[in-house]
Amino acid sequence: MGLKVAKFGGSSLADGIQLTKTKNIITADPERKYIVVSAPGKRYEGDVKVTDLLYLCKAHIENNLPYEQVFQVICDRYMAMAVNLGVTVNLVPEYEKIRQNLQRGASSDYIASRGEYLNALVIAAFLNYDFVDTEGLILFDAKGSLLIEETNAALSSELKKHKCAVLPGFYGTMPDGKIKTFSRGGSDITGALVARAVSADVYENWTDVSGFLMADPRIVPEAKPISTISYKELRELSYMGASVLHEDAIYPARLANIPINIRNTNIPEDEGTMITDTAVSSNQVITGIAGTKDFDVIAIYKNMMASEKGFIRKLLTILEDFDVAIEHIPSGIDNLSVVVNKKDVEGKVEDIVDEIRRKLAPETIEIFEDVALIATVGHGMSSRQGTSAKLFTALAEGGVNIRMIDQGASEMNIIIGVANRDFEKAVRIIYDAFVE
Ligand code: ASP
Repeated sequence: MGLKVAKFGGSSLADGIQLTKTKNIITADPERKYIVVSAPGKRYEGDVKVTDLLYLCKAHIENNLPYEQVFQVICDRYMAMAVNLGVTVNLVPEYEKIRQNLQRGASSDYIASRGEYLNALVIAAFLNYDFVDTEGLILFDAKGSLLIEETNAALSSELKKHKCAVLPGFYGTMPDGKIKTFSRGGSDITGALVARAVSADVYENWTDVSGFLMADPRIVPEAKPISTISYKELRELSYMGASVLHEDAIYPARLANIPINIRNTNIPEDEGTMITDTAVSSNQVITGIAGTKDFDVIAIYKNMMASEKGFIRKLLTILEDFDVAIEHIPSGIDNLSVVVNKKDVEGKVEDIVDEIRRKLAPETIEIFEDVALIATVGHGMSSRQGTSAKLFTALAEGGVNIRMIDQGASEMNIIIGVANRDFEKAVRIIYDAFVE
């Protein structure tokens, strides 16, 4: 028999109705033995996630405001769920312990982690699975970086003792025993770590959408679903702004070559998107289009730049000194541009330009503001001639001016820069050019 790890996001666990759907999904397949859970999410438009309420408690405490009322709202949510589902689990001592820790000045990571912890307790009782806390199993170093191999060993040896278990997502432990959380949405990472530790055949990630779409549905309402995508393609797309799965969840699954299946708790019959190591060939040229706005381009021209040794190194050092991350460096013979995030250079542009002038003495240096980057991604592009011609012709015919072009050596993606105001139009045009 195969083995599946299923992670359920906050919307799949928001209330009794959602939890019943979740249980039906789990019991429908005996291979779903290890379950990773988020904290309860929004039940309706305008509702507040439990994690946000927990951060709010901490904010009250820090500002010397009474936090009891907010904490009570959280307690009541779990109690209501337990009663609703007929689960007998005694949460009162848990609440008491959390209250005490709050009063003793527990960290905001500790407080936030209690959303997943309490949820896992309730859900383990509801499913009649073992509860396995990730405290002491997911391990971080003193700087807060995940110790991926130590975590794998600890999780794997503990889970051998449990045939079926529910684990809380989102957090682990530092060497001093303190709780540390991943960044928001981090239960996805926990799920991937558990999948690797038990050598799962598949890591199912249950959420409220049936996987990835080929483009943002706010721009392309009829965007088609992506049935399979490679880890590499997804990296290119998630990096550019698609946000169904935490991007750090890919790495642990990839290490163990475990496919990730994005599924919809509300429509479990949909097969969702399968993320795999190798690209599955299809007749589709592109797999997806994604992008983000608000980049600035620093364009530098210098005579004989190409033969000047160390030019790029010096430029990169300047940007590093200003703590600016670099997105892309498209270049010509005697010119090059550096694409940077607008928020990274805010308030520092003039200083950066002065420094470049002083150290590199370019002929010209120009700043183009408000640029959007759009990545068109697909393994199918590399084997076909005329892909870029098609893309650029379509954009030219649609009246979109391309400010920058960057194609990776793998020919798996073409990244273009356009004015922010042309962003939506360009995505629409590319979609229409490649997807019938
Ligand atoms: N509950 C956490 C959050 O809201 C982590 C997660 O759901 O993955 O970010």
